Amino acid sequence: MRDALGREINYMRLSITDRCNLRCCYCMPTEGVTPIVHDDILRYEELLRIAQAAAALGIDRFKVTGGEPLVRRGVADFIRALKALHGVRQVTLTTNGLLLPSMLDALLAAGMDAVNISLDTLDNAQYQAVTRSAHTADEVLHAVRLCAGRLPTKINAVLLPETASQLIPLSHLAQELPVDVRFIEQMPIGTGKTASAEAATSVLGRLRAVWPDLAPVEERRGNGPARYFAAGQLKGRIGLIQAVSHAFCTDCNRVRLTSTGFLKPCLCYDEGTDLKPLLRGGADDAALAAAMKQAISQKPAAHCFAQRQNITEHKSMNQIGG
Ligand code: SAM
Ligand code: SF4
Repeated sequence: MRDALGREINYMRLSITDRCNLRCCYCMPTEGVTPIVHDDILRYEELLRIAQAAAALGIDRFKVTGGEPLVRRGVADFIRALKALHGVRQVTLTTNGLLLPSMLDALLAAGMDAVNISLDTLDNAQYQAVTRSAHTADEVLHAVRLCAGRLPTKINAVLLPETASQLIPLSHLAQELPVDVRFIEQMPIGTGKTASAEAATSVLGRLRAVWPDLAPVEERRGNGPARYFAAGQLKGRIGLIQAVSHAFCTDCNRVRLTSTGFLKPCLCYDEGTDLKPLLRGGADDAALAAAMKQAISQKPAAHCFAQRQNITEHKSMNQIGG
């Protein structure tokens, strides 16, 4: 469907849990995190009902996210059911990758179309500091290697001052493997409001010192706002997501559903529609679709990351899904 500004909305991020086995510094606090109570999290049948209504409105691609989606039991079956809905063309997953090796075969058999794996550094000590965990970057790299060549795979790295030295080592993964490596500006949401960020402005110059022929490519490689670059030596692409320094809202095609059933038209604002009372109050499909249509049609024109005082979203990113 089109929103009030004529933007085609065809992509929904579905957060299936707020829980996570990491505590990334830009996403959620280390302590004092109260997980959402089990009953408030939508059941898979409820998520599927919303997805079906969304598909009927023209939303045909879904990203399963979290928290960490792979910590919720039954994800592969959920993906299978999502893919089987009428009108659904693509189901992808975003994950920190730690549980992926043991689940990859089941996820592929369920029809998962592509995967994004979050990895900010290849340095194990840095990884532990950024994710505030005892896990290692090597574990994630193992998952990346298992996925590369089996399904479209993207690595997402948030640009942080402390991992600036990782720009080239991470980019080399796109030379070694058929994977895209994307650098994302940290957004002022959740703990990202206070963590120090690095702008993407110097990234291209540093990459061109290694790959002088790095040039923009026009082809579409996903559903998001990344700008992609190719070079002769690279098997994959390098992507830049300038969420803060380069607003891409005029082309925004997405809405988000939190794990509690709150439909969010824009990351920046706390506005949207709580679909859970409708689902649990016996609303029929037409009423559900009407509520979703209304929320989507009111999608704001643009985010306000440059004017932080206007940000009204106070949830942390693990509760939104990124
Ligand atoms: N746990 C999964 C993962 O890490 O991929 C899925 C959920 S996570 C919230 C989704 C994405 O949001 C990750 O790629 C993560 O790096 C990104 N993210 C979280 N907080 C962010 C922030 N403040 N700014 C930019 N990206 C952020
Ligand atoms: Fe967990 Fe993903 Fe947030 Fe890291 S970014 S804390 S892996 S939800």
